[in-house]
Amino acid sequence: MTTAVGLSGHEQGSGHGDTAAGGRSAVAARASQVVKAYGAGETRVVALDGVDVEMARGEYTAIMGPSGSGKSTLMHCLAGLDTVSSGQVFLDDTEISGLGDKQLTQLRRDRVGFIFQSFNLLPTLNAIENITLPMDIAGRRPDPAWLRRVVETVGLTDRLKHRPSELSGGQQQRVAVARALAARPEIIFGDEPTGNLDSRSGAEVLDFLRRSVDELGQTIVMVTHDPVAASYADRVLYLADGRIVDEMRRPTAELVLDRMKAFDGRGRTS
Ligand code: ADP
Repeated sequence: MTTAVGLSGHEQGSGHGDTAAGGRSAVAARASQVVKAYGAGETRVVALDGVDVEMARGEYTAIMGPSGSGKSTLMHCLAGLDTVSSGQVFLDDTEISGLGDKQLTQLRRDRVGFIFQSFNLLPTLNAIENITLPMDIAGRRPDPAWLRRVVETVGLTDRLKHRPSELSGGQQQRVAVARALAARPEIIFGDEPTGNLDSRSGAEVLDFLRRSVDELGQTIVMVTHDPVAASYADRVLYLADGRIVDEMRRPTAELVLDRMKAFDGRGRTS
């Protein structure tokens, strides 16, 4: 099944003026007939079974589905963290499924942002040092105006000299969000970015992710099992057994929960 690229709904990046950098085409990431199998022979597991999907630039996508349905594998293949067994993956116009390790490392560093469940901040660095660390390592100078805007968007202006231990979990994750945004990546991937947060801190982070899409033109793809988290997205993709089986636009937590229950013949999601 091919899922359509929706350019309606929220404004697209090109309409924002000072938007997230990089990327020219309306499709930020694309998978075409992607198969990913682990192991061989009797132990072979097909994690992705012919996935076709497109992520529109400036759009916020949530990926949901039961445990083992292939959510993380899809995200890893789209982000260049894992290779595909067959099929093609594109980041903008670059086919990443043909790249070697070194090129993939460079592509991830220069063009992709990540937010993980564990915040992965360095404890000895303060907030602003953590935010600029990946760019420092890459030898790139942050654009001061953009950095200011990112810091304001995630509401950290008065916390920049604090170390992670002096920040709440929600604030630490906002630092991680700002770190991902600072380099103006073409796309940000999140793996359960609010999984370790209480609901109030989680809502804060989700709100900032939403604002980064609306105000900064960011493209975001996020794996989640949480209907509330998914409701912040423009679009929810549902995976089952390595295939995209459904999608929902303009989700609400209630609609997502109803849809999960409808699929729940197969049990819990995670
Ligand atoms: P989800 O994120 O939806 O829980 P995953 O993408 O982690 O699902 O896994 C999809 C399927 O692929 C599962 O059956 C899982 O056991 C298998 N799988 C994932 N990673 C590996 C791996 N490194 N080696 C072997 N099997 C794997």
